[in-house]
Amino acid sequence: MRAMLLTRAGAPLEAVDLPVPQPGPGQFLLRVRACAVCRTDLHIVDGELPGLQVPRIPGHEVVCTAVAAGPGAEMPKAGRLGVPWLGWTCGTCDYCRSGRENLCDSARFTGWQQDGGYAEYLLADQRYCMPIPDRYSDAEAAPLLCAGLIGHRALAAAGAAGRLGLYGFGAAAHIVTQLAHHQGRAVYAFVRPGDDAAAAFARELGCAWAGPSDRPAPAPLDAAILFAPIGALVPAALAAVRKGGRVVCAGIHMSDIPAFPYALLWGERSICSVANLTRRDGLEFMELAGHAPLKTSVEVLPLASANEALARLRRGDVQGALVLVP
Ligand SMILES: [Zn+2]
Ligand SMILES: [Zn+2]
Repeated sequence: MRAMLLTRAGAPLEAVDLPVPQPGPGQFLLRVRACAVCRTDLHIVDGELPGLQVPRIPGHEVVCTAVAAGPGAEMPKAGRLGVPWLGWTCGTCDYCRSGRENLCDSARFTGWQQDGGYAEYLLADQRYCMPIPDRYSDAEAAPLLCAGLIGHRALAAAGAAGRLGLYGFGAAAHIVTQLAHHQGRAVYAFVRPGDDAAAAFARELGCAWAGPSDRPAPAPLDAAILFAPIGALVPAALAAVRKGGRVVCAGIHMSDIPAFPYALLWGERSICSVANLTRRDGLEFMELAGHAPLKTSVEVLPLASANEALARLRRGDVQGALVLVP
């Protein structure tokens, strides 16, 4: 099978030809139909996440079809399956037993601890695959599997915020905006200074306001979600939320947060992070996506263009999400 392989952190992915893997106990062999490119892939490729073992095939927003089942796995009835970031958990630790498998110490993640979807085939534990709603094409569905899912979890963590700020307007924000509008919230989009295209995209999606992240919010926000991996945005977002407001950090990696005066946190403002997802998040969100009319803005590229896709994401030269098709 063709695959784009990470052989060393910081090096470009290599186009390689590998044997099709054999499904182990409880696993499916899946044929990849589409795989979206996530900012987390950039952190992995750059070696910013600890514990990376190479060689590794990245990609954790995978729309696929099961073609074989390993011992103990039963071929699924659903036509298409999604393989998300959460690939395996132990099921026995305190976190797993208390409904917080997203925090499992032994968790394995797709495209990081196990091979992902930048390939023609991948293996996945059958218990972590989820059905894909029929209303989305393969490419449209791919970004739902991380941008959508993590966005959904971050939105829940933001609480009942009527005025919601989003910092960084990429794949996750463009889905969260639609979810938030569906729930009757107003969205304020903060984009990289000078990125007029992102601001225009946010306005097109009906945001109440869109402007550069170095400008103050035009109205006090009830909560803010940070998708941009920039620590300096944490005090900026704290300054933008009103008393009792929450700042949710939704990225897996962030540059250091600069020191800031206590006054920014005072008034029962809070900061929290959102880590990974649970299978329940996935099922809930896919159910929601089956009913809510989400429009994912995607650009399809061939699998061999994975390095170009990562470079464009790094430059911020993407509107919505990039999706690789083998
Ligand atoms: Zn566990
Ligand atoms: Zn992701």
